[in-house]
Amino acid sequence: MRVAVVGAGFSGLMFAVALARAGANVDLYEEHERVGFPEHCTGLVSLATVRLIGRPAERSRLAAYEGFIISGPRHAVRLRTSEPVIKLDRVRLEQEMLDEAVREGVRYRPGAKVRVTPEGTVLPEGREYDLVVLAEGYTGRLRRSLGIGYTAQPLYGVNAEVEGSSQGDFVALFDNSTSRGLFSWYVPMGSTSLVGTASSEPRLLQPLLREAMKRFGLEGARVSRFYGGPVITGPPAERLRLGKLIAVGDAAGMNKPLTGGGLYPSAKAAVLALSMISDGVDLLSSAERALLAVSRELRRSYHVSKLLHARPDIVDMLAEAAEASGLARAVSGRVDYDVHYTLFTASIRSLRAPLGAAMLTLRSLEGAAKLLGALIRDAMA
Ligand SMILES: Cc1cc2nc3c(=O)[nH]c(=O)nc-3n(C[C@H](O)[C@H](O)[C@H](O)COP(=O)(O)OP(=O)(O)OC[C@H]3O[C@@H](n4cnc5c(N)ncnc54)[C@H](O)[C@@H]3O)c2cc1C
Repeated sequence: MRVAVVGAGFSGLMFAVALARAGANVDLYEEHERVGFPEHCTGLVSLATVRLIGRPAERSRLAAYEGFIISGPRHAVRLRTSEPVIKLDRVRLEQEMLDEAVREGVRYRPGAKVRVTPEGTVLPEGREYDLVVLAEGYTGRLRRSLGIGYTAQPLYGVNAEVEGSSQGDFVALFDNSTSRGLFSWYVPMGSTSLVGTASSEPRLLQPLLREAMKRFGLEGARVSRFYGGPVITGPPAERLRLGKLIAVGDAAGMNKPLTGGGLYPSAKAAVLALSMISDGVDLLSSAERALLAVSRELRRSYHVSKLLHARPDIVDMLAEAAEASGLARAVSGRVDYDVHYTLFTASIRSLRAPLGAAMLTLRSLEGAAKLLGALIRDAMA
């Protein structure tokens, strides 16, 4: 089987390695000369995701945190995760992944912006493939002309590397009073920190970032550099496949809706596809089925995420209720950073509320509002 992967970002690299391991002949096309650039990502994943990615992630670990802090405008709750949250060096990660891909026999073809046809031809060379994995990221333009993949508007996210550090071994997240449509975040890294925020309106990024720095106790601190890019908050694309093409990663909207995180979904889909191929399923069906499975998981948390982003006061109510009822202690140590909807399922289980099954099959925003309301009332009782 001949496979072309278009885009040597995280998702393209993940799929290139998995498909090469499955015995395919893989060509990896990348328009830039080097992988890992331009840097955009904060690089936070759970330890479970580090295991899914494998050795390149192990070698790119920069720091580990005990958990995260979720806060609304007034209240905050500190949650220990079931395993540490890991900060990866994202530039190194992609370089390590490329080295691994080449070791697995992937042919790397940098420096060319290619086009593809649904029949599996990569242009301008005109090479033909049995499967083309479209991993062009959000900014790529191929899928738009083909009518597949993610089409919704992204948010814009920015990281500021700041001198100084105000907190210890927890990552602070979901402070959505200092962002628009996502949250601001704080990642302590010894003598420096990363402070970031996101907005649907790029012009708001600077004032929001200033507010976020103030909020995290770093007002006026010196910023040594900024980096960022489009943040995808879902839901995943309805149409992932066209003929021999399949869209993955940001190009498919395969991101955690609450945080925009794209590493866990792509790592999981690639590993799942490989295990299906090992079970005898053909390459194209394996890739498609794996993506659909991960996409279902992401959809489950989409409505909850929409609600939480739209209503910062609910985050406050949840945080307050969780502290008051002992819920925060009950779910502490049971939540995986990358499978954050388990925060809700774990909360529900610990409250013994008869909402578990319904919560898992949330379909509408209204439903989410009702269930969260009930959860809060339960927690307060
Ligand atoms: C501010 C910010 C913070 C983030 N923080 C986190 C985080 O903490 N944890 C997490 O899990 N995720 C995070 N993410 C999301 C994560 O970075 C992305 O989901 C992930 O990098 C997407 O990888 P990708 O391979 O799908 O796309 P990309 O990284 O965009 O890669 C696409 C590649 O395709 C190439 N390409 C495009 N078109 C062509 C073409 N026609 N021919 C050849 N090559 C082409 C591009 O040059 C590029 O290299 C963050 C994102 C942002 C913006």
